[in-house]
Amino acid sequence: MKKILFLILTCIATLALLSSCALFNSSTINGEKLSSYKIVYSADDHDYSYRAAEYIQSSVKTRTGVELKIVEDDQTEGECEIIVGETSRSASASLDADCSRSEFAILSDGTKIALEGDYFLIAAAAYYFVETFVPTNNYQATVPSGVSVCEPIVKEAKNFIMLIGDGMGQNHTKLFDVLENDVEYGDGEDIFYGYYLSAIGYSRTNSLTGTTDSAAGGTALSSGHKTYNEHIGIDADGNDVLLITELASSLGKSTAVMSTETKTGATPASFSAHAEDRDGKSAILQSQIQLTSQYGTLIDCGYDYYTSAKLLGIEDKIRETLDTLDNDGDGFFLMYEEAHIDKHSHNNDTEKLFLALVRFNQAIATFMEYAFYHPDTMVIITADHETGGLTEGEGEYYFTYGDHTSADVFVFVHGAAAERFDGVSVENIQIPMTVAHLMGKDDFGDRTTYSHLTE
Ligand SMILES: [Zn+2]
Repeated sequence: MKKILFLILTCIATLALLSSCALFNSSTINGEKLSSYKIVYSADDHDYSYRAAEYIQSSVKTRTGVELKIVEDDQTEGECEIIVGETSRSASASLDADCSRSEFAILSDGTKIALEGDYFLIAAAAYYFVETFVPTNNYQATVPSGVSVCEPIVKEAKNFIMLIGDGMGQNHTKLFDVLENDVEYGDGEDIFYGYYLSAIGYSRTNSLTGTTDSAAGGTALSSGHKTYNEHIGIDADGNDVLLITELASSLGKSTAVMSTETKTGATPASFSAHAEDRDGKSAILQSQIQLTSQYGTLIDCGYDYYTSAKLLGIEDKIRETLDTLDNDGDGFFLMYEEAHIDKHSHNNDTEKLFLALVRFNQAIATFMEYAFYHPDTMVIITADHETGGLTEGEGEYYFTYGDHTSADVFVFVHGAAAERFDGVSVENIQIPMTVAHLMGKDDFGDRTTYSHLTE
């Protein structure tokens, strides 16, 4: 009796193993066996496309056991191809879709399937393709023929990424329209990447003092409380206020604070300390030590450089940090600041300002690529205030001021609840209040004056 039972169990185990094996995989795409497809990319295209090809390859393998080959577009065209990004294949040429903002396009013509999206949007296309057409083992998928324009897949937010361009006014983001981007470390992009996010709104930045500094501006974004200038993580009465990093930690999430500024700089400090005076460095450090020891908040700051090797250092650092945070099943909150947009705007130095903007753009691309492969990630790009009164006249932008102004700044949002911000003007404190709301906390921030953005 035991022997028969053993035999039956062995048979079941063998069958289970075989059905998950590529050899016996009966999946098809557009009528052809999945295993007859190759993934094609171009070495001339951005690395985003190669990574998208790798993503499709590894996800298909995990789901079906089939390992598709990745080939370059200089190799002879095959019968069945999944073409990723801009290539020399005719399918790429016919994929001339009219996409706006966060949209990407998929073309299907028999056994030729092409995916295209600007820069990191190809990641959204790759994720969408796998989720929609490679559901599991042994399936028959049909990619709708012709060109489809699609939106990234978004799931309920578990991870939150807040990106702050210190001093980045609305016109700062438009400098890409008029300045030649020949910055060695950039993608050669002629657009501020925020414009690829699905929602664009506006934030009012004034503090209780009037025109804000980065301390009160940072505190508004980190705590949902308007306070006086110079204050770090404390309210008008001098009381400590709960920071979004502290809230996230208390909910079991991992937290990280990254900045191109040193860690006692007003913005990173606002997300990791409570101190009455932004210039009281030792008090800030003391407070930060307490936060890191209590919650394990990762504080990684001080990247002020411009050379390509070191920029790669920033992108790697970001990926490394995301990898660490990714291991937390409860999700994470991360704040990243580009501090030098403000510095160079104070000096009215357009050239250096643009370098800082390109560097910020590269950081945004790295975070957005992550978000598209992890659709439970919400990304907010905003500023604490505008600096320099950057003004447009006759197709050029020029500074009119040497300090902060009260001009509204942009809020670019991707992910869950993005639509709440689209085309809407909010007080800066409503941004972290909405994040807290999505974390399930409705008593965060100054609820007496403002509410979070309810549906
Ligand atoms: Zn400033």
